[in-house]
Amino acid sequence: MLSVAEAEAVLQSLVVPLATAEDTERVALLESVGRILAAPIASPLDFPHWDNSAMDGYAVRYVDVAQAGSEASADAACLLEVIEAIAAGQVPQRSIASHQAARIFTGAMLPEGADTIVMQENTRVRGDRQVEVLQAPPQAGHFVRRRGEFHRVGDRLLSPGICLGPADIAVLAAAQCATVPVFRRPQVGILSTGDELVELFGALGAGCEPEPCLQPGQIIDSNRYALAALVQHSGAQPHLLGRIGDQPGALRAAIAATLTGAIASVTATSSPAQPRPLDLVISSGGVSVGDHDHVDAVLEALGATLHIRAVAVKPGKPLTVATLPRPQGPDLLYVGLPGNPVSALVSFWRFVQPALRRLGGAADWQPQFVQGKTLQSLQAGGQRETYVWGRWRWGAEGGEFAIAPGSHSSGNLVNLAQTNALAKIPIGIQTLAPGDLVEVLLLG
Ligand code: AMP
Ligand code: MG
Repeated sequence: MLSVAEAEAVLQSLVVPLATAEDTERVALLESVGRILAAPIASPLDFPHWDNSAMDGYAVRYVDVAQAGSEASADAACLLEVIEAIAAGQVPQRSIASHQAARIFTGAMLPEGADTIVMQENTRVRGDRQVEVLQAPPQAGHFVRRRGEFHRVGDRLLSPGICLGPADIAVLAAAQCATVPVFRRPQVGILSTGDELVELFGALGAGCEPEPCLQPGQIIDSNRYALAALVQHSGAQPHLLGRIGDQPGALRAAIAATLTGAIASVTATSSPAQPRPLDLVISSGGVSVGDHDHVDAVLEALGATLHIRAVAVKPGKPLTVATLPRPQGPDLLYVGLPGNPVSALVSFWRFVQPALRRLGGAADWQPQFVQGKTLQSLQAGGQRETYVWGRWRWGAEGGEFAIAPGSHSSGNLVNLAQTNALAKIPIGIQTLAPGDLVEVLLLG
């Protein structure tokens, strides 16, 4: 059985990240939030575009005001003639000669001849056309933002592989990118296995009102929705491929269909895309050792290579990772998650999410582990790396983890709701006492 770190490494090594021009689409600027940038963005201009003022004040020649406020300076030495006013967006009309100044506002272009800004607070207006400088600026060039001081035309502003956030959107806007090249969303098929599973809408009364009518032994296929939400949350496009009973023949047909089935994908954010093959298939259930667990055998019958069958982790020991040969193109990556809802989700967070982020072209996405104190005692068997779910928050003395109240059975999904973190108890440790340091995976 592989360790968690080994399993993570194996799965990551099987991922082929999106990288080519065919994997790239252009989307409108605001639609690119949260997407992965697919090409470098070079600056079309110098930043700032021209010399400009960082303050409201006066544009001056430093030599004229260098002595302002000092004992030696005669009053007249720091009295300047104001020859024009320049607001942001205006082009200066005159150049500044000796003992002249221009009234200037933040962001406005620096007039020729001036080299320094005196902030308004260090001046006193004298009549209509004069200003007195009360305090010398510390040096020439003070409060002037020079053209190209931050970036030069042609400089790389953003690199491919980053997940675009609000600050990146500002940069893209300033760089005049009305549309943005991003990697397409990975296409992920989701299958549920189990004779006991009932579709949400099939189980409800007429009009889909909340009148559940489960027969004895049936349960709702909740993993389908949880996994679709997780896939979406990981920047990918889920395709719900339905529920398969625990019959090897039906399972084989369903998995075989994912090898050839081209999924037509049209998103609101891009032009209608070509039908694309799936990049990843995730199933839940049927990977354990029971008489009705057929996923591994079916994968082998379809010629798959099984890279992982089980991991020393709790919850979620059974985990199948396979690559399936396709009639055309690269092998299809297949992840068979355990059926227990908590096991399925924890396995997704720990193993599938990093793989899916990498697949989607995110160059340096990492699971977010932080360290803090546990507020309660945490228990584990000691044989497997154990994850318990709860809430993480920053307290006065650093990070704190509070275990979710209620049962921590891998079959109880209800107290997983509203958790935001998984605390990790390493192999060999059976108890962490309140106040002990614990490593915590943030679920974001
Ligand atoms: P399995 O891994 O197939 O042995 O399933 C383990 C447990 O998870 C059983 O109690 C199943 O009923 C439950 N389970 C399997 N698939 C799902 C699903 N799609 N949604 C909710 N529970 C499931
Ligand atoms: Mg099952």
